[in-house]
Amino acid sequence: MHPAIALVTYKIVQYWRNERVFDALDDLEQSQWRPLESVRQRQWEKLKQLVRHAYDHVPHYRKMYDAAGFRPARLVTIEDLELIPPISKQVVRENARDLIAQDRRYKFSEDSTSGSSGPTTIIYTDRTALAYQHAAVFRAYRWMGLKVGERLIRFWGTQLDTKRRTKDSVKDLLLNRKTFSTHGLDRESLEMYYRELVRFNPASFYGFTSGIYEFAKFVKGNALPVDEVHLKAIIVTGEPLLSHQRQLIEEVFGCRVFNEYGCAEFGPVACECPKGALHIMAENVLVEVEAADDDASRERGNLIMTELNNFGMPMIRYRMGDVGVLADESCECGRGLPVLQEISGRMLDFVQTADGKKVHGMYFDYLPKYFIGEIHQFQIIQEDLQHITVRVVKDAGFNESTIARFEEKLRRALGNAVDLKYEIGDTPFREETGKHRLVVSRISEG
Ligand SMILES: [Zn+2]
Repeated sequence: MHPAIALVTYKIVQYWRNERVFDALDDLEQSQWRPLESVRQRQWEKLKQLVRHAYDHVPHYRKMYDAAGFRPARLVTIEDLELIPPISKQVVRENARDLIAQDRRYKFSEDSTSGSSGPTTIIYTDRTALAYQHAAVFRAYRWMGLKVGERLIRFWGTQLDTKRRTKDSVKDLLLNRKTFSTHGLDRESLEMYYRELVRFNPASFYGFTSGIYEFAKFVKGNALPVDEVHLKAIIVTGEPLLSHQRQLIEEVFGCRVFNEYGCAEFGPVACECPKGALHIMAENVLVEVEAADDDASRERGNLIMTELNNFGMPMIRYRMGDVGVLADESCECGRGLPVLQEISGRMLDFVQTADGKKVHGMYFDYLPKYFIGEIHQFQIIQEDLQHITVRVVKDAGFNESTIARFEEKLRRALGNAVDLKYEIGDTPFREETGKHRLVVSRISEG
């Protein structure tokens, strides 16, 4: 479809759905340049309004706040934020119905979390919040020099049920994009995707880091020409972006890679600006860091997030399960949006050992660069405190010494008290969602 026609059609559909994406986009375009103080003020006003609404109209919050002795009227200054009791994933999973506002009939879109770290949670996002989430994506595209409606290839997991698959195909058409499934990236599909890429000539890629990285490796490994492909930006999401991955993808496709952090509950949470800072979509999401007690610097901690526009199913101080650090300084690009200095694996993605060692998932992020060409992919699965399964997928240069050297690096962090069991194979593996997780912990959330 011609980009202009696709865009007009998309606008009509959004208008008809009462999802005012382009009004939201105008708002966000303006607000990003306001100073940080004013961004925070806007968040605070929105939050107070949302908490009051939740207390008045959402059964679960009324019950929970009453039980905790909390009243919305107690919110006076921003420091009072911590008085609001947080909610967990489990609460949302078990009380979805009771989290829906009763004051009017909201129109919702339904989405669910990936379920890779436990059972799936259903999230209902109302139209206003959805409009703002989409607008935040479009605003970030503009930071990267992309226009709304320009051709895009999405590297994503395929939806498992037909209804969602159909919905995705319609969206692909309207948004002038194609989806490459990251489920089974075998040689045959990679070849097909390469031919599609040349034919479609998109302005950008968007999708799971490992999927795009694998595609880049394939293109490079087979010396396939891409000079007819004119990409302006590649946006990766869903998984950590390792420095060697960024380097290779940029080298192969000759354009900049931008990082995005987002989730089903909140849509895009933070996106990289041209200066390399991961700006929080602060008009949509309030991000707090709950400092861990054992972290001396008290900077790194669990992320607690609030969706500021979803009055249909308020998500107030939701413990995300991811770990991050907020930056102290503002970004030189001039945007007043706060910056996420670091975002890493889930709190669960620590590996623990019986002798009390606790190794952060980030450690394992650094390993791949030592084994380029030997190990295609690996995954650390913590079965219990005593047992860890290491799944390894061989690459062409895999040899007798590979595992010994790999184990040496693992032992350096994990020590000798834990049993390592290897599962070595040739076929790349992938989660049901199409993402790849480096560390999986089977120790319960407890
Ligand atoms: Zn910036």
